[in-house]
Parts: sequence; structure tokens; C-alpha cells
Amino acid sequence: MKTIIKNGTVVTASDTFKADVLIEDEKIVMIGTELPAEGADVVDARGLLVMPGGIDAHTHLDMPFGGTDTADDFYTGQRAAAFGGTTCHVDFALQQKGQTLKQGVEMWQKKAEGKTIIDYGFHVALTDPTEESINEIPSLVDIGVCSLKVFQAYKGAFMVDDTALYKAMQKTKEADIMLMTHSENGDAIALLTDELVSAGKLDPKYHLDAHPREIEGEATARAIAIAAVTGAKLYVVHMSCSDSIEQMAMGRAKGYNVMGETCTQYMFKFEDDMRVPGFEGAKWACGPPVRTPEDAQFIWKSLRDTTLQTVATDHCSFDYEGGKNGRNAGKELGKEGWHKIPNGIPGIEDRMPVIYHNGVNGGKISLNRFVALTSTNPAKAMGMYPRKGTISAGSDADIVLWDPKKKHTISAKTHHMNVDYNAYEGMEVEGMPVRTIIRGTTVVDNGELCVEKGFGKYVYRKNPQIV
Ligand SMILES: [Zn+2]
Repeated sequence: MKTIIKNGTVVTASDTFKADVLIEDEKIVMIGTELPAEGADVVDARGLLVMPGGIDAHTHLDMPFGGTDTADDFYTGQRAAAFGGTTCHVDFALQQKGQTLKQGVEMWQKKAEGKTIIDYGFHVALTDPTEESINEIPSLVDIGVCSLKVFQAYKGAFMVDDTALYKAMQKTKEADIMLMTHSENGDAIALLTDELVSAGKLDPKYHLDAHPREIEGEATARAIAIAAVTGAKLYVVHMSCSDSIEQMAMGRAKGYNVMGETCTQYMFKFEDDMRVPGFEGAKWACGPPVRTPEDAQFIWKSLRDTTLQTVATDHCSFDYEGGKNGRNAGKELGKEGWHKIPNGIPGIEDRMPVIYHNGVNGGKISLNRFVALTSTNPAKAMGMYPRKGTISAGSDADIVLWDPKKKHTISAKTHHMNVDYNAYEGMEVEGMPVRTIIRGTTVVDNGELCVEKGFGKYVYRKNPQIV
């Protein structure tokens, strides 16, 4: 099977140029001008950008949290991703207490099986740091897992202490695995939570008081220090504020193997959105919490100056009004108290258009930087480059045809995510994907899904790079 994409403008993390792209079966085989089209399906990309498909390095599909499960499973979440121009994601498999890390991955493989639309990999989260689990870490590379997550927060659930963090980093260093941290000080959060709840402070806005910015900065600095001592590669997920990003800038300036991710919502949702009267603020409960417009500006600056190198979503969808009509319970579980709100914000579908419109059209980042932040850098950091994350001979033909003039108003009424609200409701964006191609096959074309469930393939990942 041959396909040729003609007349488009190819955009990579480094270059923008007019060229045809020839695809044979699942791979890009040639890029050039006036390529011969005999025997190939011709796709006319006149007026369109030809970019590597988006890669979301941080998602939670079909994830249990606080007595319920996310609204999106692998089918609805990956389908939404494809509509939004994302062709690959890396989801978090959680080790269960008493189980091995590999059993965690197997459990998540089962959740994905038969439902996939886009390509995917798994990080695994170390939640039961027994000696066996720590010793198991290097063997993760055998099952294509080259990233291990450690929570410095969620005490009593996922959190591990600094002893476990240190030992895990020694092992990830040994096996060339990326160590990822959720960096907030879980001890402080647990104490603050108890204080607030016992004082009867139960409205959603108190979620903010339990997650002060200083302790995100502190935990980030601690993770960076341990990475420096052990020599581990460290990827700090969902960085939300200047307190933590400044620590990242310092760590990178010292030459440590550290890098940071932010997520779309931290540039658009703020503390004031959680402080509204009533329960509405529950929609934006996530950890670390949403911060301030000043932090958003700091994040944009940090994305531009390479202090931050990836934009992910941390997609974790819970209905605002769930638990009815056969739907999973959602945010309403927190009506008795903010500490019972399932944490998370949906966004797997919106990341690419929202960052493109506000970042590129908004003059905050270049087009090439957009590709780097949303595709190339996550591919490198997660051990998938150059198979994924670029347009190059030999790479998977994961391509998004992007119409820079197409306008769209984001809304829960029209989105494809299986959740009853949208974080970017009413946002008018200019620049939308019109065709999503994965391994040479058109997956979404002009608003139509073109593949069956099960199309997406598991990606074996290795050799993660600090970008
Ligand atoms: Zn997450």
C-alpha cells in the first residue's frame, strides 16, 4: 500500500518546507519535491501543514480513583485523541499492592485490549516499593516499558518515601529507564487536609489550600537532588507553577539529567475558577492544583526557553454530574467534602488545537516549537524517537494534516471525549486537524472515524532521552 501526500508544508521540530511525503505500508519512505505518484493513493494537502501526530506522554484512561473509574476508557479516550490530532499516548499502569510491576502493566494491557484506536505505551507506577519490586525495575525494559513513575504525594495510597525514591532511581539509572515524579510533598498535604477537613472547610476551593505551591517547589527540588546524586534521568510531570519550574531551571543549569512537563490546563484554568460559589470548582480539582494567570505566563516563557520541554494533558476525566443513567460516579462524590472529589481534568482531545491556537497564533511559541513540545520531545523522552515524533524516512507514518485556517469552537456538546464538561468550553480556536494518519492508515478524516476498535498498537519503548 502506497500513499503520497502532495503539495503540503511539512513541519518538524526544526524545519518548515514544501515537500511531498511518500508512505509505503506503515512507514514514511521518501520526502522530496515532485515525487513519483504511480501506484499510490494521492492525498492533496494544498494549504495544509503536514506535522508529526501528537504524542501525549501523560494520560489516565480507565483509571480507578476514589471509589470510581474515569469516564473515558481506552476506546472513547483514544478516539477523542485521534479527532484532536494525537496519534500516540503513554498511559499510567498502576502497580497494585502485593503485585509485581509487570502485573500492573498486564492489568492495563487488558483494559486497552480490543479498544484501541491510536498507538500507546505504558509507564508503570511503583506504589508498593518492596525489595522485590525495586529489583524488578530493570526488567521492565523487556516488556517495552522505559519509564517508571513515583508519587511523592497521595500519602496512604500511591506515595512512596525518599528511601524508595532513592532506590528506584538507582535502579532506573542502571537500566536506562526514565524516572518520573509527581512532585508535591505528600506528608504536608495529608496534614493540611486533616486540618481543613476537621475545621469543616469542605468546599472545593479548600483543595487549593491543601496543595500550596511551596511544597510543589520543595518536592521538585528534592527529586532533582536525588536524581543528581544517583545520576538518574528525571522527568517531572505536570509542573504547574513558578516555584517548581524555577527549581527545574536551576537543576538544568547545573547540568543534571532532568526535564519537566506541563499540562494544557495550567495555562487556562486558575485558582479563581475553583473559588466560584457552589460546587462548580470541583471540575478543576487536580493535583497539583490549578494556579494563577502569572504562573501561566511563566509556563509559556518556560516552554519557549526550553526549561519545560513537553506539554501533556494528564487527561483524567470524571463527569461533573456522574453516577446517573449507568454512568460512572464523578465529581459529585466530593459534595460531602473537597477531599472526596475524584482528581482530574479532561483534555486529551483539545491539547493540540488549544496549544496551537494560543501558542502559535498567539505569538508565544514558533510552529516548530509547537511540534517539539507536543510530539518530538515526548517521543524522545519516552523512548519512541525517531520511530515516532517526526517526519523522516523510516519513521512510522503518524501524520496529522492540519488546516491552519480552520476555525472551531470547543464545547462539550461536540467533543468526542466521554465526559459531560470541557475545560476549554467556548474557546474559539483557529487551526484544526483535518486528517489523522497512523502507520499509513487514515484514522480520522473530516470528522469521521475510519478504523475499527483494536487498530491502535502497543509501542515497545527503550532508551529514553533527556531533552
Ligand atoms: Zn497524572
